[in-house]
Amino acid sequence: DRGAADTVAITIAHGDGIGPEIMEATLKVLQAAGARIAPETIEIGEKVYLSGNSAGIAPEAWDSLRKTQVFLKAPITTPSGGGYKSLNVTIRKTLGLYANVRPCVSYAPFVATKHPKMDLVIVRENEEDLYAGIEHRQTDEVFQCLKLITRPGCEKIVRYAFEYARNNGRKKVTCMSKDNIMKMTDGLFHKVFDEIKLQYPEIESEHFIIDIGAAKLATRPERFDVIVTPNLYGDIISDIAAEMTGSVGLAGSANIGEHIAMFEAIHGSAPDIAGKGIANPSGLLLAAVMMLVHIRQADIASKIHNAWLKTIEDGIVTAELAASAVGRPFGSMDFADAVIERLGQLP
Ligand code: ATP
Ligand code: MG
Repeated sequence: DRGAADTVAITIAHGDGIGPEIMEATLKVLQAAGARIAPETIEIGEKVYLSGNSAGIAPEAWDSLRKTQVFLKAPITTPSGGGYKSLNVTIRKTLGLYANVRPCVSYAPFVATKHPKMDLVIVRENEEDLYAGIEHRQTDEVFQCLKLITRPGCEKIVRYAFEYARNNGRKKVTCMSKDNIMKMTDGLFHKVFDEIKLQYPEIESEHFIIDIGAAKLATRPERFDVIVTPNLYGDIISDIAAEMTGSVGLAGSANIGEHIAMFEAIHGSAPDIAGKGIANPSGLLLAAVMMLVHIRQADIASKIHNAWLKTIEDGIVTAELAASAVGRPFGSMDFADAVIERLGQLP
């Protein structure tokens, strides 16, 4: 027993919609597995927005995030109507979360998918590109959005992709950009990729123009390993890739910065099924597994990951995957209990 000495303070937010349900299920598994964490709760999302705070995050929440530097975040709802800023974009910019890492893995035959051999990771640049939010109205009928790409930004994300490949036993990094048309901005991204790849001779590298790259991803995802790409292309291809594995409820993601990292499910707050206890907690749980690796508790991370895989292999799934179920679908907490029962087992 390593005791309290290496317990890590983390910040958590329960979120909106299915957020509180999947967070409760996730924390129950983390606790049962012996994760050495001390969670601090912050308020973000709908309640905060509706209290008149247009950013959706209480000022004191930033103190917790800057102190713990680790954030496990459940999905939130942005109220409809104008005037509410996207909290995800605010958090990424404020905390400098430059890399968005999304593993997209098939679990065939246990989860139905047309692409059973898919196992790739998308590393999306998370701060620049058309997301810099620089828009102008030129005339009544003409609008302009600036695409901002910097050399330091390209270097950080490309290096991150190669380091990720090296540290995770991945063999190839594919760069996707559109530098045949945007010769300066995307051209810089590609050029920096060609420079940095030389420092990783043991890792294969290749480049595709984003349109043909996306087409190959849709038909032969198994030929990809790590993909690094600018913000907007990464946004689009990572949603497609996650959907191709079978369910949006299955994927977690990490948002990595120089000092701070945030971990979340890729899906939203799913108001259509909120409060019913049927949501799949897997996306948030797998995000928490990535978090445990990040805080150097890889032993606990693989214990949970193996138990989760065993659960899926035993045909235990939540309602949205009912077509793949052996027997009745499980509720969120029963699914968590099934994972807990399998802690210590291998898939
Ligand atoms: P956002 O704008 O917040 O990203 P969205 O419009 O993309 O939201 P989601 O909230 O991700 O929508 O939901 C999309 C669909 O997927 C809904 O039908 C929802 O019920 C389903 N869904 C999302 N997450 C889960 C989950 N964890 N378990 C089961 N179903 C889910
Ligand atoms: Mg969405």
